Amino acid sequence: MRIYLDNAATTPMHPEVISAMMSVMSEDYGNPSSIHRHGRTAKSIIEQARKTCAKLVNASIGEVFFTGSATEANNMVLKNAVQDLGVKRIISSPTEHPCVLESLDFLKEHRDTEIMMVNIDGQGNIDLVYLEAILSDSESKTLVSIMHANNEIGTMSEPHLIGEICKKYNALYHCDAVQTITKYPIDVQAMGIHFLSGSAHKFHGPKGCGLVFISNDHMLSPFIHGGAQERNMRAGTENVAGIVGMAKAIEIATNHREQTLTHIKELRAYIKDKLNALNYDIQYNGNQSKAYADHILSVSFPPSPKADMLVMNLDIAGISASSASACSAGIEEDSHVMKAIQHPSDRKTIRFSFSAFNTLDELDFLVEKIKGMS
Ligand code: PLP
Repeated sequence: MRIYLDNAATTPMHPEVISAMMSVMSEDYGNPSSIHRHGRTAKSIIEQARKTCAKLVNASIGEVFFTGSATEANNMVLKNAVQDLGVKRIISSPTEHPCVLESLDFLKEHRDTEIMMVNIDGQGNIDLVYLEAILSDSESKTLVSIMHANNEIGTMSEPHLIGEICKKYNALYHCDAVQTITKYPIDVQAMGIHFLSGSAHKFHGPKGCGLVFISNDHMLSPFIHGGAQERNMRAGTENVAGIVGMAKAIEIATNHREQTLTHIKELRAYIKDKLNALNYDIQYNGNQSKAYADHILSVSFPPSPKADMLVMNLDIAGISASSASACSAGIEEDSHVMKAIQHPSDRKTIRFSFSAFNTLDELDFLVEKIKGMS
């Protein structure tokens, strides 16, 4: 038996997504830019998918663009907001995904952009009072880039409140919603979001297909130059099957949202009860009381030689989970997120992340294995 508990990294594709994509790959292979019938069919399939994506976040159809990943979407927003919209300062958080943080480093170094980080607490919660203080402190045209849910610890920000603060100070608001899109309702209008990114492979869609919402009032210029695809915004022949797969995955996820969330909440509560019953001085990273993404559980084990080997030994036992460390120059180090929340570096963190496909039996198996290894 192999058990997959790394759904924050990527998810298995839903069988209905695979069949929708197979159908497109075998039947609808026209190039959407061609004006003959094959091309027109492919084009109309893409536009249908765009409607589904726009509806998902309450955007208009012209505000949604397909990309190759959320990494691309985030690069596009951050770099082109500086290039096109006169953004001189970006306020972000130290726990953002590397594709945001690395883009910010680039902008600081090569585009003279001022980068500021909000304060966070030990659970990764954003200090909104501080955000407001630094926004009120400068007249510089500012973009606030804060993710909806952290991919390592699950702590969620409060888009409504961030949107309100941004509006008050005339700042733009970019939200990396990769870990939440389809799982929780997102309304870019109500939340005051100007830019938002998502990625199909995080919600049982295919890899290599992302989306970006760009508000009509703050439209960016093309990120990739060439043909006129994506209304000139992103040249390159479209990934038609991927786009269809993403739209299908959205349809399935939204039709079953409540049911899936109930199941995932049950999985989370179940594994926490079982782990707590072990009396191993286990701690949980990130917000555990209210503002968290239910599918991500970051578990911190007390220092021991066995804890160091846990992810590897679980893998050998048939369980895929993720560690919160990165290997740098042969030395294992806590990730930037663990460092930012000041997680004690001698403890060992494992991230378990769930999807609708996981079962309580799988979690029983996991706990039995942890018992034998700790
Ligand atoms: N942002 C967050 C929060 C993520 O979790 C990820 C993927 O792990 C990304 C961005 C990048 O997404 P993609 O794999 O589509 O490039």
